[in-house]
Amino acid sequence: MRTMPTLPDGTPIPPLGQGTWHMGENARARAAEVDALRLGLDLGMTLIDTAEMYGEGGAEEVVGEAIAGRRDGVFLVSKVYPHNASRRGAVAACERSLKRMRVETVDLYLLHWRGSVPLADTVEAFEALRRAGKIRHWGVSNCDVDDLEELGAALAECATDQVLYSLEHRGVEFDLLPFCAQRRMPVMAYSPVGQGGRMLRHKALAEVASRHGATPAQIAIAWTLRDGNVISIPKAADPAHVRANAAARDITLTKDDLVTLDAGFTPPVRKRGLAML
Ligand code: NDP
Repeated sequence: MRTMPTLPDGTPIPPLGQGTWHMGENARARAAEVDALRLGLDLGMTLIDTAEMYGEGGAEEVVGEAIAGRRDGVFLVSKVYPHNASRRGAVAACERSLKRMRVETVDLYLLHWRGSVPLADTVEAFEALRRAGKIRHWGVSNCDVDDLEELGAALAECATDQVLYSLEHRGVEFDLLPFCAQRRMPVMAYSPVGQGGRMLRHKALAEVASRHGATPAQIAIAWTLRDGNVISIPKAADPAHVRANAAARDITLTKDDLVTLDAGFTPPVRKRGLAML
């Protein structure tokens, strides 16, 4: 049985969620996107990750429709644009997001990436939103160790860092993952199936997948979930992908599998700049 990650304050958080980038961009795809998210919720992928950026609010509207009538069973994550992340701007942006999702509270609200607004101003806005009950927790995204250190005392309140993490982007293993683990701060892995691209055709993934009677994407997801401090948020609009991703939670990789994957996708041996999409 996989251990459930917890936020630094002890709040449990689902290990496997659903991404929403590129949802809400096309009216004709909308019903299928809503259905995909609902199917994912039914299958236990109860964390939904979205952002005001996705479809310029369209993805948050899709999420609102998908979770209507079932808000209580969902752990909702959204993100503020860096250019909206000022003291007043982040509060206003969050209120717009809440309206689009037709909810009163976001469970976790993240700074999407660092921009020109000082981190301290964004933290002030996040704390004000928390006091007002509009968000339960806050965190950051695309931040490296030095950015997290810059938070100073506020780092103790930061619930997560959402970063690019997959077999083909392992740089964060060098220092960011250990830094967060030491602080009992889970990391959220975005693009865990390599956006459905080339990574899934790698022979090391094919080999491990065949050992488990699974697909390469399922192995890629199971790999991100292997240590209990990472939350994985694959995005899937195709119901077959949704079903496959939900089942990935039940795959436990063996030591041999990890050796095969390390041989195919070399772990980092030195510090690299944080990769982001
Ligand atoms: P993912 O790695 O989740 O890949 C999504 C793509 O892979 C889609 O085209 C999807 O197809 C396909 N796919 C999903 N499941 C499978 C499967 N089982 N087999 C084969 N193909 C599959 O990439 P994302 O970039 O979307 O990352 C996931 C989420 O992370 C985003 O949606 C977003 O919520 C978040 N994110 C955050 C960022 C940040 O800066 N904080 C940056 C990027 C992403 P289909 O949709 O047709 O099912």
